[in-house]
Amino acid sequence: MESWPAAVERLTRELGRLPGVGRRSAVRLTHHLLRCPAEDALALAEALATARDEVRPCGRCGNYAEGELCPLCQDAKRDQGLVCIVEKPSDIGAFEATGRFRGVYHVLGALLSPLDGIGPAEMGAERLRERLATGEVRELVLAVPASTEGEATSLYISRIAHGHSVHVTRLARGLPAGGGIEYSDALTVLQAFEGRIPA
Ligand SMILES: [Zn+2]
Repeated sequence: MESWPAAVERLTRELGRLPGVGRRSAVRLTHHLLRCPAEDALALAEALATARDEVRPCGRCGNYAEGELCPLCQDAKRDQGLVCIVEKPSDIGAFEATGRFRGVYHVLGALLSPLDGIGPAEMGAERLRERLATGEVRELVLAVPASTEGEATSLYISRIAHGHSVHVTRLARGLPAGGGIEYSDALTVLQAFEGRIPA
């Protein structure tokens, strides 16, 4: 016989499916959620439901948005001509943490990987073409991982940019390979950005 009711087991199982949460952490979180004030636990459930219901990709950059555009694309003080290309919305946090990047972003959502069935369409290439066609973009900064997929992606984007009057640059070496941008500290990201080189 199970030592806990099914509802407790279910909560533990769901928490344990989160990245970086093993069984022991899931059990600890379950105990916390069952013992903290009910309104705190329900606030978490409500925040999750609201985020899943209302957050969608920004129509321009692919970042998280609650309406048509994300807060960064709506910000008139950001330089819409300087576009940093990242793989995931979570990479944006690393650039924002520097406090010095005043441009905007383009979130690919995935890196080009034909063997895994990820082609230009899955990578949001069309959104990028549309953006370049507006003529607003002066510089694309490639901030994708230095992996095989990252290199293929960079090459593809450089090709898309060809024919538009846009500079394509890439971050200086120094960031860890393999999707490490979101975990890099602000100073490393800032140095990689300021030392960017033509792609
Ligand atoms: Zn946006």
